[in-house]
Amino acid sequence: MVSKVEQWVRPEIRALAAYHVPNPGNLIKLDAMENPYRLPDDLVEGWLDALRQVDMNRYPDPGAQVIKERLRRVMGIPEGQGILLGNGSDELIQILAMAVGGEDRVVMAPEPGFVMYRMIATFIGMRYVGVPLRAEDFSLDLDAMLAAIEAHQPALIFLAYPNNPTGNLWSRSDIETIIGAAPGLVVVDEAYAPFAADSFLEDLGRWDNLLVMRTVSKMGLAGLRLGYLCGPEDWLTEFEKIRLPYNINVLTQASAAFALDHHAVFDEQARLIREERAALDGALRVIEGLQVYPSQANFILFRAPAGRAGAIFESLKARGVLIKNLSGQGGVLADCLRVTVGTPEENARFVEALKASL
Ligand code: PMP
Repeated sequence: MVSKVEQWVRPEIRALAAYHVPNPGNLIKLDAMENPYRLPDDLVEGWLDALRQVDMNRYPDPGAQVIKERLRRVMGIPEGQGILLGNGSDELIQILAMAVGGEDRVVMAPEPGFVMYRMIATFIGMRYVGVPLRAEDFSLDLDAMLAAIEAHQPALIFLAYPNNPTGNLWSRSDIETIIGAAPGLVVVDEAYAPFAADSFLEDLGRWDNLLVMRTVSKMGLAGLRLGYLCGPEDWLTEFEKIRLPYNINVLTQASAAFALDHHAVFDEQARLIREERAALDGALRVIEGLQVYPSQANFILFRAPAGRAGAIFESLKARGVLIKNLSGQGGVLADCLRVTVGTPEENARFVEALKASL
């Protein structure tokens, strides 16, 4: 007999596996691109003071004007460009897809890429088209992208700059060509902006179909769940209609406003992480048998000797370190593992455990 679940839940949803987040227990957590540093002790009192002022009995400011104004100032969002806030950039991806969705509408992204683009396209009932990156260095295959754009006429293209899970920045001129060729929206996803040498934020307004999406997650505020989408007001006005009225709660609004007033602290943490990334990259490159990919993000992708990634991942866990095993995805990610840059001590523990595991 067909159960009610089978009868009513859409087959494409039943076919999905829920986004898996492993329980880190006491492991050193280098799996999720978090900033390893907490808010410094001398700022905690000020933050708690800000929280004490919050009216938890009231709904949040639906427009979240205070954080929008601070984001504009601190992040340098150009005047004349709008801002839409989401409960993490995950929610912004969902809002974008809902706005342009439809059975015959296509979401496109280079692959391997951030998995939520594909998942959300499926949730919304859109078609997803992944275009393979060049296997040797994960660079954009511009001809393949242009051919796929021509063939599928995507409503929405996501370009993660830098890309997750590969960590690299693609050629700026290739991205500009794609924006020019795209019939619909191009969202440059700059989740890893604090660690990257380039950005499209200042390019907003050069094209009528370019949006830039960012998040405060990687700069040290992953727990707040706050993403921001920047671009022409005529697009954002439409997306605002889909955003649930109180998606940014009072605690997030107050905490983010406080954090943005002290952004120098987070800038300094990002600088430390970039320095540590260089050190970790150097430490990995001298280990025989690994192929290490250059990163502009707060993580490093590396390839283990053939067939060994799963065992290395488990052995690292047994030695107290959790990273991300991507080898199961196969294809160009066969044998690949991804490690988030942690504190100097965490990275040293990881490198020691990795050497022992090999
Ligand atoms: N974009 C990219 C490229 C990411 O890697 C991630 C998180 N892993 C996100 C967006 C989502 O970030 P958040 O929802 O935490 O803002």
